[in-house]
Amino acid sequence: MESPEQQVVSPAVIDHAQSPRNNGPLTTFNGHARITGPCGDTMEFWALAREGVVSQVSFITDGCGPSLASGSIATCLAQGMRLKQAAAIKQKDILAALGGLPAEVEHCALLAANTLNAACEDAVRRTASGRTSDCGSCSDTSCAARQRLAAESEEAFAERQQLSAKLCRIRKKILVLSGKGGVGKSTVAVNLAAAFVLAGRKVGLLDVDIHGPSIPTMLGLEAVPVQEVAGELLPVEMGGLKVLSLGFFLRNPDDAVIWRGPMKMKAIQQFLKDVAWGDLDVLVVDSPPGTGDEPLSVCQLLGKVDGAVVVTTPQKVAAVDVRKSISFCRQVGVPVLGVVENMSGFACPRCGEVTAVFRSGGGRRIAEDMGVPFLGSIPIDPKIAEACDEGRAYITSYADSPTAVIMRDIVARLSVAGATPTSGTGT
Ligand code: ADP
Repeated sequence: MESPEQQVVSPAVIDHAQSPRNNGPLTTFNGHARITGPCGDTMEFWALAREGVVSQVSFITDGCGPSLASGSIATCLAQGMRLKQAAAIKQKDILAALGGLPAEVEHCALLAANTLNAACEDAVRRTASGRTSDCGSCSDTSCAARQRLAAESEEAFAERQQLSAKLCRIRKKILVLSGKGGVGKSTVAVNLAAAFVLAGRKVGLLDVDIHGPSIPTMLGLEAVPVQEVAGELLPVEMGGLKVLSLGFFLRNPDDAVIWRGPMKMKAIQQFLKDVAWGDLDVLVVDSPPGTGDEPLSVCQLLGKVDGAVVVTTPQKVAAVDVRKSISFCRQVGVPVLGVVENMSGFACPRCGEVTAVFRSGGGRRIAEDMGVPFLGSIPIDPKIAEACDEGRAYITSYADSPTAVIMRDIVARLSVAGATPTSGTGT
């Protein structure tokens, strides 16, 4: 005897659930949307529109059969339609095309319709403003990437255009720097990125700290494989944050340390050029420490960097390095957004009171001395180390703690400095 489920599921639902069409991100697109429905399933659509018509459309979802079937049929319906028509596809159209869905999963069709609509509306907006993901058809005539440089090879020119096309979809780029390793640069980068996500921004976190790419560990992403689609790397998504780290590609964490200079540069370039970041409000870059060739290459490849956050510890020796980092930023034309003094005192796990264990205040003094903002002091907090080891962002996991308040104040000072976008729309 057939089960009640089998009686109500149509052949089209089974077909599209088992062999979803247009499943996987597009590498070239000018409309994109991602929505999480009340059921917790997330759907993401990409649309490429040419002259007002949907020429390609694709989707992914973390939902199961009915979500896959709804997303798949929605792409089939939208393909070839005028953008505005596709933006008006409704839940009932998807249900009709599927031959219906069991009542308890009809919301999957609504999620597919809403996400498709939002992607098409995004394409309408972007094509209207002349902004596309294709560098060659961009309307910005003043962009340096339009002109081939004297003595630039065809290949180098194409690569530069590709990099530029990626970077111009990122509204703000913030570099997290330190004079040396071990001062908490990656910890600050992770929590900064997580704070932007909490504020509703579209955020990317790029870890190019060749000497110790620790972001995968800090976010519990060590075993996560990076997917490659049509020659592009897809950042790993975690709670609304897009993450890419050199650490994802190392079998042994010590591998990168022995890479030769050109290999490191190539890896850094690839991470900017060949990654499908999509539209971002903010990209937080965890830079290699120091003031040598590696952070220099990162700055050069990023083009315009909106600012750098310099992380230090309170000790005098670290203070020497922080001066070097500030001078480095000035030399490469990156505005210093400010200095963060990390591991400044010890936060009692019981009452939160901060006790000075080392001499503190060095970061503030140097910031004042060198005429850059002082963003705040983060104490040593055992919960920070614990969260890092457990692969969670501290600011999200311990949102109410006094140290998380300090971190949010630091982020607020960055926003006041105009270093972060004021709206989360990405447009
Ligand atoms: P860097 O990127 O400068 O090398 P990390 O961010 O990787 O430094 O931090 C080094 C270690 O110190 C990590 O284990 C991290 O959990 C810990 N840590 C960083 N800041 C703090 C802090 N304020 N309180 C407690 N532990 C911290």
